[in-house]
Amino acid sequence: MPELPEVEVLRRDLLTRMPKPSRIRRLQFLSPKLRTPLTLPKSLLKKPIVVTGIERRSKFLVFRLEEGVFVSHLGMSGYWRAETKRSEIKHDHVIIEWENGDLWVYNDPRRFGIFEFHPDLSEVKWFTQLGPEPFSDEFLAQPVIDKIRGSQRAIKSIIMDAKVMVGVGNIYASEALYKAGINPFKPGNRVSFESLRRLLVVIRNTLSKAIDGGGSSIRDYVHASGEKGKFQNEHLVYGRSGEKCTQCDSKIQSKKIQGRSTFWCRKCQR
Ligand SMILES: [Zn+2]
Repeated sequence: MPELPEVEVLRRDLLTRMPKPSRIRRLQFLSPKLRTPLTLPKSLLKKPIVVTGIERRSKFLVFRLEEGVFVSHLGMSGYWRAETKRSEIKHDHVIIEWENGDLWVYNDPRRFGIFEFHPDLSEVKWFTQLGPEPFSDEFLAQPVIDKIRGSQRAIKSIIMDAKVMVGVGNIYASEALYKAGINPFKPGNRVSFESLRRLLVVIRNTLSKAIDGGGSSIRDYVHASGEKGKFQNEHLVYGRSGEKCTQCDSKIQSKKIQGRSTFWCRKCQR
C-alpha cells in the first residue's frame, strides 16, 4: 500500500511531467466505479479542463483545476503511469489525455482507489477530520502531544490514526518508533513528553528521508515513470523479523497490532 512518501514522490514526478499548457483534452473512465463512482458533471465535458497544480493532502493527490479539484487516492494497489502512446493494461480505470497527446493512466487491480471531481476542496468529505501534516508547524505543537498523552491506546495505533496526524503508515510507524526508542505497544499516556517530542521529530525526518530516497517500494507501488523506490533497502526493523538489531545483538521481533505487522527490538525499545 502506498504511504505518504510514495504519494509525495509521485506528486513531484507527475508535476515535472505535466505538459504546458496543462490542458486536458479528454478524460476517460474505463469502468463505472473504483471505491466510489467515476462521474463528471456535464459542464466539465464542454471544454478542455485546465489543471493549475498538483498538491497532496495526507495520501491524496489533489489536482487543482480552474473549476474545482480532482481528488485521487491510490487505495491498496493503485498507481499512475505517464505514457505517450496508449499501452492497454488490464485494470486501467482512468485516462487523462493532455492536449499535447501525453496520457496519464490510473491502474488499480483491487479498485480501492478513488478518483473524484469536487467543485470545491472544502466539500471533500475525506479531508474533514484529518490531523496535521507531518511537515506543517502544527505537527510539532502541543495539541498533538496532548492528544497522544490523553490516550490509553498503543502508541503505534495512535500515530497511525489520521485524526491525530496524517501520513504515518505501517512501515514508517515501526521505523520511527524504533529510532525514537519507544515500544510500539506502550500506551500513549505512559510515554514521556520528551520521548514524544523526539518521536514527532523522528517521524518527520523519517518521512522526509523516505521522500528523498524515492519512497518505499513494497508490493504494487511504482513511480509515474515505472521506476521503483529505493527506501525499502534502508528499513531498520520493518520486514526484518528474526534478523539482528542494528544497535544491539537482539533479534527483531514481530507481532500484529490491529491486524498490521509490527516490528521492534525488545532491548532498544522500552
Ligand atoms: Zn536493539
